[in-house]
Amino acid sequence: MNLCLPHCQVCARSHWPSREICPHCLGHEIQWTEIESSGSVVTATLLHHSLEPRFREHLPVCVATIQLDCGVCVLVYLEPGDLAIGNRVIVSTGTGPTGQEALVAKSVTR
Ligand SMILES: [Zn+2]
Repeated sequence: MNLCLPHCQVCARSHWPSREICPHCLGHEIQWTEIESSGSVVTATLLHHSLEPRFREHLPVCVATIQLDCGVCVLVYLEPGDLAIGNRVIVSTGTGPTGQEALVAKSVTR
C-alpha cells in the first residue's frame, strides 16, 4: 500500500508534516498525492527506557527516521533487526507498540 503526502502543484515537491502552504516555494496549491513508500534508514535508535508508563511493557522500541525516495523524511517504528543505516525499507500505516495507529517500516528483504 502506498502512502499519500501533501504535494505542491507549483514546484512538484512533496512535504511532511502537512502544511497549508508549500515549505519549498510558499505555493498554496497543495494536493494529497499517492507516493512510492520505499526509502532508506537515515537514523535509528533503540529505546530501552521510557517515562511513559504505556511504553514500558513494550520496550525496547526501535524508532527511525526514514528518507523516502521522494525526499521527504518521516519518523517510524521499525523492527530492531532492521535498524542498520542505509537499510532499504517500505513505509506503511500500521500499529505502534502500544496499539496506536502509526507509521511503520519493514525491510524490503523480509
Ligand atoms: Zn512548492
